[in-house]
Amino acid sequence: MSLIVQKFGGSSVADAESIKRVAKRIVETRKAGNSVVVAVSAMGDTTDELVDLAHEVTPFPDPRELDMLLTTGERISMALLAMAIKSMGVDARSYTGSQAGMITDAQHGAARIVDVTPVRLREALDEGAIAIVAGFQGFNRDSRDITTLGRGGSDTTAVALAAALGADVCEIYTDVDGVFTADPRVVPRAHKLDVVTSEEMLELAASGAKVLHIRAVEYARRHGVTMHVRSSFNNHEGTWVVNSKEETPWRSPSSPASPET
Ligand code: ADP
Ligand code: ASP
Ligand code: MG
Repeated sequence: MSLIVQKFGGSSVADAESIKRVAKRIVETRKAGNSVVVAVSAMGDTTDELVDLAHEVTPFPDPRELDMLLTTGERISMALLAMAIKSMGVDARSYTGSQAGMITDAQHGAARIVDVTPVRLREALDEGAIAIVAGFQGFNRDSRDITTLGRGGSDTTAVALAAALGADVCEIYTDVDGVFTADPRVVPRAHKLDVVTSEEMLELAASGAKVLHIRAVEYARRHGVTMHVRSSFNNHEGTWVVNSKEETPWRSPSSPASPET
């Protein structure tokens, strides 16, 4: 039995229909006999809308309160996803970053993960439930305040959970088929890479490939987490982000036997 962490980005959970589609995919992974932990982003453009709203109230929102506001986005999607999964007859429980033991430093808006204590997630997994974690957020022990990890930070939540739980793979589900040589929406000739090392991925991220949060790649590299970046809209193999190309073969435990659908 494998332990799989699956992260779904905002475009994959943009509306109720998408949430049901993603829930089905998670349930399939669980029913294939895997333990599953999910990190989820806020729905669609929710985070942008919340930032705009804060700036309508004041040009300089207080950083603590801004984090309090922005973390509500992920709270909406985690609860809806857990509801959708439960309605399919499979046990699922949602957790905020703080409930999931995502401990950070105190830097609002760009907090770094300093520890992960996923006691409640382990309990849920031991009881056969799927644990759904709100991405992008944590908790600082000194200030006892809620923090956010910086825009795009749900990738880092997923990788940190995968490292702390010793997951077999961290799957990053997004709206493109994987990591491309350049942004496929801007450069139509760009082609998908089957496998990249974390070092190559760091260079891509540094040159603007926002498909992965740079801190997620750094974290994965430090903790030896293997990532699989793939589309939530099909079952194609995506891009494996590995620490060394010796790590073959790359095959997702959650991919069906015939992936081309
Ligand atoms: P999510 O909401 O799933 O986190 P993001 O919008 O953060 O998704 O990242 C996915 C987007 O990254 C794609 O839609 C694509 O336009 C963009 N992107 C930029 N550079 C690349 C690249 N080199 N390979 C793939 N996607 C890229
Ligand atoms: N919702 C947050 C953002 O839009 C985090 C994420 O999507 O990863 O930046
Ligand atoms: Mg992203």
